[in-house]
Amino acid sequence: MSSNSQPEVAIPGSPVVPKMVGPDHVIQFSCHKGIGCWNACCSNIDISLTPYDIIRLKKRLGISSTEFLKDYTVPYEMEKDGIAGVKFRPVENGTACRFMKPEGCSVYEDRPTACRYYPVALLSMRKQDEFTDTESYALVKEDHCKGHDENRRLTIADYRKEQGVEEYDELTRGWRQLVLKKKSAGPAVGAPSLKSRQLFFLACYDVDTFRAFVDSEGFSKLFKLGDEEKAMLMADDVEMMQFAFRFLKQVLFGENTIERDETELKQRLEKWRERQAQIEREAAERLARLEDGMYEATDEEVEASETGGSCSTN
Ligand code: SF4
Ligand code: SF4
Repeated sequence: MSSNSQPEVAIPGSPVVPKMVGPDHVIQFSCHKGIGCWNACCSNIDISLTPYDIIRLKKRLGISSTEFLKDYTVPYEMEKDGIAGVKFRPVENGTACRFMKPEGCSVYEDRPTACRYYPVALLSMRKQDEFTDTESYALVKEDHCKGHDENRRLTIADYRKEQGVEEYDELTRGWRQLVLKKKSAGPAVGAPSLKSRQLFFLACYDVDTFRAFVDSEGFSKLFKLGDEEKAMLMADDVEMMQFAFRFLKQVLFGENTIERDETELKQRLEKWRERQAQIEREAAERLARLEDGMYEATDEEVEASETGGSCSTN
């Protein structure tokens, strides 16, 4: 039921009701043990994870973020924008969530944002010239979910409170801003490079590997972190996650909030320019030799050509 007169009917072929609503919108919904569809939603999952979801779950399971990503998730690209995302990996040869038990969710207190929100979805939208997300939501109506027939009405704002989603959204605001920025930069500047996608993945989702990176000698030479700030980052996953968002805004979008050692930066840029010049010189020399018909393959190229086509057993 809606707080206004527009019908709440899902788009054919999609469970999403094509209407944006605000936090005061009233939904009719209740999910509880004993309902006829108990666990139906967790039997066929498509759940994207936020950086904070990963921190909560890896802590719950007592493993590193690297292990969690490897064992419990699959990477994907968000909306073909080349932006790295992470989804739950379902059970082997099935579609159910690995945390689903007959009695319900076995990680309930640490369940991901998408599970908390259901049957509401947060829509991250960019206001013109801003990269903050507006508070808009959509409703998800799936035939198997009988929660919509239950006699309980509450606003989305109250539902978010009840489900503990406010903390989750607040802590991942920086990540949603990065995704919006990357999406809006998309086709205009071409697909992001492999390196920038890898960096985005590492910083956003693998907090333990990112911590080792921040602790490395190379990082310390380039970025100036106070002893106290560094100690706090090393000790606290959530602080490290927030720092990762700042770091990505700096290296991907030039929003400089982390002090750098300018001498070290100049030296690195100089080395990078030298390497680029060397690559260009070598390419030009190869081209010139090709044009003169004098191109000679290197030893490695000869070796590759000799072994490359040798699948015959004769
Ligand atoms: S984490 Fe819990 S609530 Fe979410 S899909 Fe898995 S079992 Fe269901
Ligand atoms: S009411 Fe909906 S959310 Fe609750 S168990 Fe049933 S299908 Fe899942």
